[in-house]
Order: sequence, then C-alpha cells, then structure tokens
Amino acid sequence: MAVSVTKIICIGQNYPAHAREMNSPAPVRPIIFLKPPSALIGDGDVIEARLELGRVDHEVELALIIGKRAKRVPVENAVDHISHLAVFNDVTARDMQSAARTSGQPWSLSKGMDTFAPMSTPVPTELVADIHRLDLELRVNGEVRQKGSTADMIFPPERLIAYISKYITLEEGDIIATGTPEGVGPLNDGDLVEAIVPGVGSVSNRVRRT
Ligand code: MG
Repeated sequence: MAVSVTKIICIGQNYPAHAREMNSPAPVRPIIFLKPPSALIGDGDVIEARLELGRVDHEVELALIIGKRAKRVPVENAVDHISHLAVFNDVTARDMQSAARTSGQPWSLSKGMDTFAPMSTPVPTELVADIHRLDLELRVNGEVRQKGSTADMIFPPERLIAYISKYITLEEGDIIATGTPEGVGPLNDGDLVEAIVPGVGSVSNRVRRT
C-alpha cells in the first residue's frame, strides 16, 4: 500500500485465556497502547532483540488496516473503515514490560523497539471470508506455540474501532493490532518465528539475539 502509517494501535489482553496467562482479569474496556511505525518490518526481515533485554516474546495477532478516516464511528459502521487485513507479530520485551507494569510505568519501550512489529503484506478485506472467524497460529522452528480464533476476542474489530475512534482519529493506513491468544513464549537466537492467519497470510522472521 502506498499510504504511510501514522500510528499502530495495539490492544492488550483481548482474549480471555491470554489475560489469564498474564495473571490479569479480563478487561472491561479495551486496553490501548501504541507502537511507533519505525518498529515495522516485513516477511523475511530479522527481529533484532539484544540479549540484555532478557525474555522477548512472540504474540500472533490479526491486524486491521484503516481505509478511510474514522472519527467517532458507531459500531454499526465501523467495519466499513477496514480496507485490508494482515498478520502481525506483537514482539514484546516481556521482562521489561513486567517491570514497567509492576512500577506503574508505560509499556512503550518494551513494545516499540525497532523490528518489534513484523507484519505480512496486507490483503483487501473483501478477499477474506469472515474476520470474526479466522484462525491464528504461531510456530517457532516449525513447532506450533499459539493457536486461536478471532471468534474468541473479548472486543471484536467493530467495537475496537468504535471505542478507539471516540478518542483518537484513525487515518487511512493506520494499523490496529487486535490482541493475541494464549501461548505467548520466548524467542531465542536463531529461531524462525512464523505468524499465520489462513486466508490472510503469514509473516516469517529469523530472530537475532546478541
Ligand atoms: Mg499483543
């Protein structure tokens, strides 16, 4: 897509089983944070995560790409604002994020480092059967680590867009990463991590930890 990305909005704990594995209660409203567009990489690029960061995790997610400006959009019209879908890996410096959570500090650095936002080539929404029933899978070195379905989202895409656009205008090209199912886990030097959503695509990246 030729349009530039002004922001990546990410949703925390949008699947009940993942909220449980993070020892958090299911949220009553969407948990919002941002990643800078400078974190984006594509299929085949390398995830760079320094060893000093400690544990760094994978999180497979469905990404919604905004096709037209959305400002205070009602739930009923919200899906019309999605033009494309993609597969997203919300790479997270977990030890750093846990320390930030404990001390009440923001997650921005633990989530927003360079290469921490691998994303597949976006596909037009009309080519995808049903965004509410997509399977998500993540493999490390060929072994399945995460499996889920967008049917299990606590806040489905239309509710996320309605909620976010009440406060933040979404521009064409903006990305919403809709949260990860359970099974998040660590990435080691040399790992090949593949995030897959059948019918949407996949993004595959080698991990470098030095
Ligand atoms: Mg996530």
